[in-house]
Amino acid sequence: MSEIVPHMPVLFFGHGSPMNALGGPYADVWRALAATLPKPKAILMVSAHWYVPELAVTAMPQPKTIHDFYGFPKPLYDLQYPAPGAAWLVDRVADLLKPDVVKRDEEWGLDHGTWSVLMHFAPKADVPVVQLSIDASKPAAFHYEMGKRLSALREEGVLIAGSGDVVHNLRRMKWEAGSEPYAWAQGFHDFVKARITSRDHQALIDYAHAGDEAAASIPTPEHYLPLLYCLGASTPHDGVSFFTDQIDLASVSMLGVQWGAAAIS
Ligand code: ZN
Repeated sequence: MSEIVPHMPVLFFGHGSPMNALGGPYADVWRALAATLPKPKAILMVSAHWYVPELAVTAMPQPKTIHDFYGFPKPLYDLQYPAPGAAWLVDRVADLLKPDVVKRDEEWGLDHGTWSVLMHFAPKADVPVVQLSIDASKPAAFHYEMGKRLSALREEGVLIAGSGDVVHNLRRMKWEAGSEPYAWAQGFHDFVKARITSRDHQALIDYAHAGDEAAASIPTPEHYLPLLYCLGASTPHDGVSFFTDQIDLASVSMLGVQWGAAAIS
């Protein structure tokens, strides 16, 4: 009898502060979300924090936990996320992304864009995880195209996930509790949400021409671009829902998006 492979959803996580790794309301949502979904065979993660001028995947059997942040409390540096890698998924990604050539990286690992979320989404660290870099030398449309090519993985039990923040302006953050979002931050968060819902992907690929609110929300593109992989991997048949939908520290969007149902066909 052949195995029933679920049509996996695609997820975009707004990861926000590394402190979310230690728990809190977002961690609770990520944990609850996982309970509604089929367990993936593996997770392919596109994290804002691996933004380098090349196309690469983590190819080591046991990727290390990278603590790529400064000035946070010690408990955050003590966290480990020991999920294994997946050589079969590395091969599959390299195949799907042809004719582009994917470097098999042995140096990186899992950065906090990945593990601060997966620590809660897959707390047993028993699902293999492969990270795909964001090639900083490429235009926005390239990242969307990469997502399209990877979409077939969804039929193979692989969860495709992006981790970033659609609004991410650290220079403008306000640390006072209860700070209201800037009008431009809320405006762009709402703009993105509306176009995800209406499936106007071209407008989201063309974010650089979306005006002043976009410019203030995306001073550098690395936290936004993971969204484009997710949009590319989604299909018109997928339902869209938002599992987190808030702006933290006045200028960091925690928007979290799910495409596709968890139904097993
Ligand atoms: Zn980040």
